[in-house]
Amino acid sequence: PELFAPERPNSIGFDLRDVPTLATIDAARAPFHAHTWEAAPLLAGDVNAHTPKTMHNPALPADVVGTVATATLEDVNTALDAAKPWDIPAQERGVILNKAADLYEENFGLLFALLAREAGKTQLDAVAELREAVDFLRYYGTHAPATPPAGNFTCISPWNFPLAIFSGQVSAALAAGNAVLAKPAEQTPLIAHQAVALLHKAGVPRSALQLLPGAGDIGAALTSDPRVDGVAFTGSTETAMKIRSAMADNLTPGAPLIAETGGLNAMIVDSTALPEQAVTAIVESAFQSAGQRCSALRCLYVQEDIADGLLEMLTGAMKELHTGDPWNLAADSGPVIDAQAQSGIATHIAQAQAEGRVLFELPAPQTGTFIAPTLIRVTGIADLEREIFGPVLHVATFKSHELDAVVEAINATGYGLTFGLQTRIDDRVQSISDRIEAGNIYVNRNQIGAIVGSQPFGGEGLSGTGPKAGGPHYLARFAKPEAQPSGT
Ligand code: GLU
Repeated sequence: PELFAPERPNSIGFDLRDVPTLATIDAARAPFHAHTWEAAPLLAGDVNAHTPKTMHNPALPADVVGTVATATLEDVNTALDAAKPWDIPAQERGVILNKAADLYEENFGLLFALLAREAGKTQLDAVAELREAVDFLRYYGTHAPATPPAGNFTCISPWNFPLAIFSGQVSAALAAGNAVLAKPAEQTPLIAHQAVALLHKAGVPRSALQLLPGAGDIGAALTSDPRVDGVAFTGSTETAMKIRSAMADNLTPGAPLIAETGGLNAMIVDSTALPEQAVTAIVESAFQSAGQRCSALRCLYVQEDIADGLLEMLTGAMKELHTGDPWNLAADSGPVIDAQAQSGIATHIAQAQAEGRVLFELPAPQTGTFIAPTLIRVTGIADLEREIFGPVLHVATFKSHELDAVVEAINATGYGLTFGLQTRIDDRVQSISDRIEAGNIYVNRNQIGAIVGSQPFGGEGLSGTGPKAGGPHYLARFAKPEAQPSGT
């Protein structure tokens, strides 16, 4: 497949600098400001779900967003019995996925409202998320392969991209002709339910796409049943490892696992970097989406000679960030996903505080699960015991002669998702990019927001199995193992 497919332009999205566009978005979201949605299993057979439970807005706990009736193990059984690969010509599957992309775009008001109220997405995040979802549908739809499908494909998606990653996994598996069993994150079933409803409306049959909202037990059942032929998973490295062993024990040997997991991502800023450019890139990489991207910057290395000046500029820029209800178009940073996430991050910050290592902290609203952007001093990336999935940036300094040791320390984490470099020395760009073990390397820009079709996204080492999402090798992994080209 071609990397740049001229027949498939990416979504144009929305220009949030344009005042009439903001008014259009506001008007389209307005009918959904107090709407409540329902999520439940969408099966090709009878549903036997649990009694519905209530879902709340992470920014405003009193705001009820809807209810979810989670799947039972009986539902998993029904779904696997009813699943049938999507047996129509590849090109026709592509037409239907492109039609679904159009429906997503037409329903932007509903989707933006749900992204804000269920997932805490700011408007900037919601625009990027809808664009990416649409781009995945069109990209995989346009490149739908004629190879035989793996069969029944389980897709387990995360809450941090409840529309984009959910739709990306599902549309890739569908484009390849599989029967999909989709288990969305527990925190974001309402968005997944709407996405599946739009895919069904576009013409994907129920037997080829079933939704099973639920917790870990449903994920476990969907990755250990011998009727499953492949799994796409985005989430923690630990869960990916459990899935791998469950698959090895129960599924046909060779059943594909496509895992995209965590990261401990670094950026190096040397003394030749353009400070304004570096600060913009740092703020976006560390704090956009409240730091809840696996691509987000976690550990910033600044060359000592410029550190004081750069950190002064950085804290100045951070003061301009408004943390609050993402329904407000002026919010730059929304809540973290739930109380458990909030308390884990808050404990990490409190520990740094007790050790006198918090360099800068902003105020955050007291109700809702907010964490304000925070800077913490570290001696190096080895101080980070785990990925802190929130708006917390760790900062270390290095001396000119320590650059090689910094590169080694970054590689030594074992993760390899994104890496950022800010420098004006061309040779250094080359030599560091050659040595850093990361799936996505970004130079003199931010390190988030990979674009479907032109910046395939995915990691190496503990960060994922590859191949990268939104790239030319991804779809091949959803084919029957015997039909997969070697080396993808
Ligand atoms: N693809 C996203 C990005 O480039 C990150 C995906 C994730 O967080 O899982 O920022």
